[in-house]
Amino acid sequence: MRELKERILKDGCCLEGGILKVDSFINHQMDAGLMMRMAEEFVRRFKGTEIDKVVTVEASGIAPAVMVAYLLDVPAVFAKKKVPSTMSGILKSEVFSFTKSRSYNICISDKYLTKGEKCLFIDDFLANGNAAAGILDLASQAGAEITGMGFLIEKSFQRGGEMLRSKGIHVESLAIIESLDNCEIRFNE
Ligand code: 5GP
Repeated sequence: MRELKERILKDGCCLEGGILKVDSFINHQMDAGLMMRMAEEFVRRFKGTEIDKVVTVEASGIAPAVMVAYLLDVPAVFAKKKVPSTMSGILKSEVFSFTKSRSYNICISDKYLTKGEKCLFIDDFLANGNAAAGILDLASQAGAEITGMGFLIEKSFQRGGEMLRSKGIHVESLAIIESLDNCEIRFNE
């Protein structure tokens, strides 16, 4: 998506270790107009896909997921990173965080991810695919189906995209970054 790529070049910056910082318009301060146009792009790309619900992981996935859910008129649910003491019937999966170099649990109530539901997963970044694998695990525990996965930014020099596509999952990424070597942002097309 041209607008997103141009914005990444204008306002994104590289950190050590292949991390892209986009916190002035995506994951801290947010550009709501851009977020809505990205949600519209996902709706176009997943046209014809059965979607009963949009699923994401807190916190950065919530804004785009809610906008996609609004456009599709379906609920959005986010996996929590802390198990709430008030929650019973919890589906839980362990995820390794690439940016924080540690593991954490993600959880969703079994009331909000249920057997037979067809879900679209939306997140800000696809790197090694650990968060996505955690969501696939939660969906499998629930008996739900992930019918597609949409990412604002995919870093194709990491292995997540390959792993998900090799499972036959319909993956859409609005900007695919091929390299961040020498702190230079290079897209794959
Ligand atoms: P994965 O689970 O695919 O390895 O990593 C995806 C998660 O890690 C995303 O939800 C995102 O929060 C975080 N992440 C991975 N790479 C980056 C990055 O380059 N920049 C930022 N800001 N977050 C990232």
